[in-house]
Amino acid sequence: MSITFKGGIHPPQNKVFTKDKPILALPAPEEIIIPLSQHIGAPSKPIVEKGDRVTMGQRLSESEGFVSVPVHSSVSGKVKDIKPWPHFSGESVLSVIIENDGKDTPCREMPAHEDWENLSPDQIRGISREAGLAGMGGAAFPTVVKLSPPPTKQIDTVILNGAECEPYLTADHRLMLEYPDEIIEGLRMIMKTLGVEKSFIGIEKNKPDAIKVFKNKTEKFDNISVIGIKVKYPQGAEKQLIDAITGRKVPAGGLPFDVGCLVQNVGTAKALYDAVVRGKPLYERVVTVTGKTLNNPQNLMVRIGTPVRHLIDACDGTKDPIGKIIMGGPMMGIALYADEVPIVKGTSGILVFSVTEADLPREKPCISCARCVDVCPMKLLPNRIATLIENERFQETEEYGIFDCMECGSCTYVCPTKRRLLHYIKWGKDEIIKRRNKEK
Ligand code: SF4
Ligand code: SF4
Repeated sequence: MSITFKGGIHPPQNKVFTKDKPILALPAPEEIIIPLSQHIGAPSKPIVEKGDRVTMGQRLSESEGFVSVPVHSSVSGKVKDIKPWPHFSGESVLSVIIENDGKDTPCREMPAHEDWENLSPDQIRGISREAGLAGMGGAAFPTVVKLSPPPTKQIDTVILNGAECEPYLTADHRLMLEYPDEIIEGLRMIMKTLGVEKSFIGIEKNKPDAIKVFKNKTEKFDNISVIGIKVKYPQGAEKQLIDAITGRKVPAGGLPFDVGCLVQNVGTAKALYDAVVRGKPLYERVVTVTGKTLNNPQNLMVRIGTPVRHLIDACDGTKDPIGKIIMGGPMMGIALYADEVPIVKGTSGILVFSVTEADLPREKPCISCARCVDVCPMKLLPNRIATLIENERFQETEEYGIFDCMECGSCTYVCPTKRRLLHYIKWGKDEIIKRRNKEK
């Protein structure tokens, strides 16, 4: 039986460039830029000033509100400035600029707990907030919030997401091969925090080596099962993963805890382990830097705040002039407008396209073939929604579930007339939110 969900697409994998490349530590650049907004939720507030000396791992901000986490310095050195800086969102975001002194003097603010099994759930939650943990699969939702479900929601299943279904990306694959013990311990910490007795690790079948490693490593745990799931995009999206592994359907507008599940990325589990056992805040992560035009694509361990340009240079530059840089994967990633944008906690990949590769075909009228409807994993009508938006009938799209769209891009990918369906949907969502705010 194939474990999967209904809908979805099969784009070329293109993982061959980096899947066998071990993770290499990228030396930190001379200047690091730490945005105060790296997660879903409120930006954090700076607690350092220009001229302050900081150590590696030192907290630079405090979180404002429940859905927020602090950021930390990824090098030791001096705060050169605090000012708006280009950000992946397309806007300029207040950021702490640090001049690296090259010494990597560590900060000892956070204690290490090798005996983590003696910690209480609240202590683990507190460490995850203190360490600035946010989901590392791309969404960057503060981990402490996921670990604190409402008391009315009973979670009985944790799913660790090792699907990595986006083409090109191999950061999670390499992490699973190189740090399986830490990931499994991180999963056990999540289970303990939520009082959950059952968990799954979902890995796409295009990573048989990772499936084998995890099956061997989890043999001694009765409550952890490793599941090989069908290779299909977007298999790693939370709702699709839950459906594939448990058969439970998250209702429209609902969240995983509505069906008793919590999903965490394998990178987040590793970061939780590092925070709890090593007292290490989240200040570095694995990034796949890839694309046919790069001379030497790599999986790099990168300090948060490193400008994208530095990663491209570390891959020996490109064969052809660069046409587009995408942060994330080709399906859900965001095209960057500047190569000085820094790596953040949710950056799983940097994808570089040449001018020729980035050249998009012209959009033509819809031919009502319904392919976009067939592949939509959320069972939406992307063609209908896009047409309403083109005609600026934004409000009506809510009846068609525009906010259930998870922006996977599958509809755009299959459209034979190259309609920019996802572009229209994003525009529609923005417009509806703007109008709602105006009314308020
Ligand atoms: S409508 Fe949204 S969820 Fe459906 S295929 Fe398009 S982008 Fe994905
Ligand atoms: S796939 Fe493209 S052409 Fe076909 S129905 Fe959808 S929008 Fe129209």
